[in-house]
Amino acid sequence: MNFSALLLVALSSIATTTAFLPLPQAHPNVLRISTSSSPSDVLVALEMASRQATKWEKKQKWLEGRGLSAEATDSDGESSNAVNIIIAGAPASGKGTQCEIIKEEYGIVHLSTGDMLRAAVAAGTDVGVKAKEYMDGGKLVPDEVIIGIIRDRLEEEDCKTQGWLLDGFPRTAAQAAALAEAGCKADCFLFLDVPDEILVERVVGRRTDPETGKIYHMTFSPPDAEDEALIARLEHRSDDTEEKVVVRLEQFHTNVAAVKGSYEDIMVSIDGNRSPTDVSKDISESISAALAKRA
Ligand code: ADP
Repeated sequence: MNFSALLLVALSSIATTTAFLPLPQAHPNVLRISTSSSPSDVLVALEMASRQATKWEKKQKWLEGRGLSAEATDSDGESSNAVNIIIAGAPASGKGTQCEIIKEEYGIVHLSTGDMLRAAVAAGTDVGVKAKEYMDGGKLVPDEVIIGIIRDRLEEEDCKTQGWLLDGFPRTAAQAAALAEAGCKADCFLFLDVPDEILVERVVGRRTDPETGKIYHMTFSPPDAEDEALIARLEHRSDDTEEKVVVRLEQFHTNVAAVKGSYEDIMVSIDGNRSPTDVSKDISESISAALAKRA
């Protein structure tokens, strides 16, 4: 056996008994691990693959339960059953919290443009350097910067096979048009509706745990007062100030009508001024209804 060759592991078989079937490399359930990887890297890859397999199975069962076929997407993105969702709403309308739940439930790829841009800023990439001045001022980064990033990301295999959840994109008419031009069609456009005065309150008290990504609010959903380590590492986003949220809300109101107008046929408006559990229930029903229509 040639040990420099890539080891093929049948991802789908990790959760079952028939391990290491030589599936074709283009199959979406095949994980490729280089034999030059260290044993710990291989373990991490297998652990992630196993979690992915569980999600994949869960999603396929969910689809089958609703009379949809459990057929997989091929590597060209054809005959896809992947669920594609756009979630929109003003800053702090609850998109992040709901995305965590949706991504867990459907096993789809969560793409938050805010997180992607913050990562680019932290890494000091060209995009990050360009984006920083806009983000610091609470302004939208130019369409041409963000459109390129999202288009490239949606081309990747995981988005085609698992489906995508766009969070924070499209935010302008030009971004919506670019998404349509790229042939990326959503099943459902979820709009979280929250009054501005509530949003300001939410933004100012919002804190994020960098280790888990969990979002807290110092008044409405505070961290455990005894967990000193957690409290010490909580981060307050530099644009989550009263001054900057006013600019962010202005930008949101300038563009929201045009974005909603692009998705009238698949839009569901959800009252986001309720508990995350109640909002999540409505979201789940809306996605089920959208998928039932598709069937
Ligand atoms: P929020 O929706 O709470 O304002 P995000 O984390 O989604 O926060 O975005 C943070 C910042 O990243 C925005 O204020 C903006 O500068 C930039 N950004 C994110 N998504 C886009 C987008 N689609 N178009 C332009 N700028 C964006």
